[in-house]
Amino acid sequence: MLSLLPDHLAQIPLIQFVYEDDLLLLKDENSEWFKILHDFVWQDYQNIAALYYDSLYEFNSSDQGSPKTNSTANETEEQAKQRHLFDRPTMQTNDDQAMSPLYQYQPMTPTLTTVSAAHVAPGVIPSRFIGRKPKCFFAMLKAFLGVTLMGQKPEPEQVDDFLRNNPTFARACGYTPKTLETYDEYSFDHVPSLRKLEQFDQIMTQFGLWDKIKQFQVNDNLVHGVVEMENELVGDTTHYIAYSGFETVEYQDEKGKKKKKSQSKTTKNCHCENWNDCDHEWILADDGAGSVAKSGGKLYWAHKAAVIGFPRQGAILDITAVADAATHDGQTFLPHVAHVFDLYPDVQSCVSHVLYDSACDDAELKKKFEVDYQVELKASLNPRRKKEVTKGLPRGIDKITPYGNPICLEGHVMDYKGVRYEAEKFIYEAPQNELGQSVCAGCPQRSQCCNAQTKGSRIITVSFNLLPHIDSNDPPMAKRFKAIMRRRPSVERMIKRIKCDFSDERLAKRGNASFQAYLDKSLIAYHLLLKHLD
Ligand SMILES: [Zn+2]
Repeated sequence: MLSLLPDHLAQIPLIQFVYEDDLLLLKDENSEWFKILHDFVWQDYQNIAALYYDSLYEFNSSDQGSPKTNSTANETEEQAKQRHLFDRPTMQTNDDQAMSPLYQYQPMTPTLTTVSAAHVAPGVIPSRFIGRKPKCFFAMLKAFLGVTLMGQKPEPEQVDDFLRNNPTFARACGYTPKTLETYDEYSFDHVPSLRKLEQFDQIMTQFGLWDKIKQFQVNDNLVHGVVEMENELVGDTTHYIAYSGFETVEYQDEKGKKKKKSQSKTTKNCHCENWNDCDHEWILADDGAGSVAKSGGKLYWAHKAAVIGFPRQGAILDITAVADAATHDGQTFLPHVAHVFDLYPDVQSCVSHVLYDSACDDAELKKKFEVDYQVELKASLNPRRKKEVTKGLPRGIDKITPYGNPICLEGHVMDYKGVRYEAEKFIYEAPQNELGQSVCAGCPQRSQCCNAQTKGSRIITVSFNLLPHIDSNDPPMAKRFKAIMRRRPSVERMIKRIKCDFSDERLAKRGNASFQAYLDKSLIAYHLLLKHLD
């Protein structure tokens, strides 16, 4: 079945057209997308291309997308709603921790792999296909990545739009423009139809090829030092607005108490006239979508993604869909770090600590990171609605904030100095003013605070017992802790970048598989740009 093509596929074109607008775009600072497509190293993707053509063959010869029949016969819509509800990760009890909070992707694999990577190239299609020559993998890949680099949604509709309305873009991807004579003819090097673009995206998603390219691209940048290794990782989650509606499902919890939860609507994939009679399966219209609570009590019907990156460079390493958007952020970090270590073992060997916001301030979680990965988890303090401490305080101190900062009668915040472990006490000293003098000098409260022996600043000690929620081994008041945590917000800039510059926060497709593909395409484009700018 294999074609006998010469080895030197990169033959020089006999005639080279030079377009003036191409030259202009190469000079233009705002057209990175064009330069990236222009300098595209297609050889990097030959393995994926071979896999794609085998997958396409499999896709064409099977009945893809035909609706599944109901495994649980005669299931009513209400029963299906309850089944889907209790299958959700956020409905599992604590004893059942087998279910990962992250979306676990199960890609298909082509049954036969016959296409050799060495025999595919831009415009060179394996001879396995009889009849119409399929559209070139490399051109479609460039089209999807080009649109993503322009900050558009990485979806077939946007790609179609750009290919049709921007001839320079179409040419940069490798398509030849139609002429009046060839307008009605099919040619593999003409711009593909929207249906072909949708099919390409579907195959890339179902066979896990976006995921493979993403891993290649990130790894390539790590190996070549485009992204340098750091000893810290930072994580957070972000939400993307779902392209679906929800309903409120009532259920009974294990104690028989009536409860409610927002869930995606149920639907069927078939075109049968009466869904209540046919035996096709009831599915969730948008699996993975859930209510995401943001600050100020705002609720979004959305998908959730977990993000991990290197804080110093502000470089994103991975972005993975959370299986159920209603999952608490704190539950996603450990499995996500494990996933990143699994994909990029070199990262694991460099990382000594990981940073997160107060959603991960949990002693048990910290221990798990230490035991399972020998990594220290640093999380912002979560005072858990602890009140200010106002009793049992040293002389001259008005209160201690939930964050462990004593404030004196005169309203000065005491500086944290360290720990005396044998005595189980934290040490603080009164701060200095702008002139470098102690605020205690000339303080009107001196008689109630300092005693005659006090020279310079008032020093106080506070027993660990007064602040039981503060980890004395890693107090958040310490300078080192603060210095490390100052790098944590860099993840927020990473999120802004991937969400606004390489896609759009409003999704245009449903389901976790499409969502993960959306994230993968964004991350591929992001890493291509990092490589280009290096
Ligand atoms: Zn049906």
